[in-house]
Amino acid sequence: MSRMAQPKEPTQQGTKGDLRVVVLHSRCIGAAVCVKEAAGSFKLNAANKALVTDLTKNKNETLVNSARNCPTQAIFVYRGSQQIWPPVGKAGLAKQPGRDVKMTFEPE
Ligand code: SF4
Repeated sequence: MSRMAQPKEPTQQGTKGDLRVVVLHSRCIGAAVCVKEAAGSFKLNAANKALVTDLTKNKNETLVNSARNCPTQAIFVYRGSQQIWPPVGKAGLAKQPGRDVKMTFEPE
């Protein structure tokens, strides 16, 4: 069996190492903040919903910051089994997303 990587179609989620990014399309309003802030990692589909293209194009911190700046908190970020963003336990949308969440990243 070939070990070559298969061409990856953009979907609502993607992984990079133990980082997993999921776009909740029911929340996505196509504002494209993620597309601009993490260029190459997201794109909008024909319905103006964000798809994950290639997470390796950006550092983990950039990916998480783009999720933090999504106006509708449509982007969920997990590291392993831990949800990094949005903050666990906060119902609905945070007014100042992310400023109270401590994140550490290993060098990439
Ligand atoms: S920033 Fe949020 S709302 Fe805007 S396109 Fe990306 S996921 Fe959708």
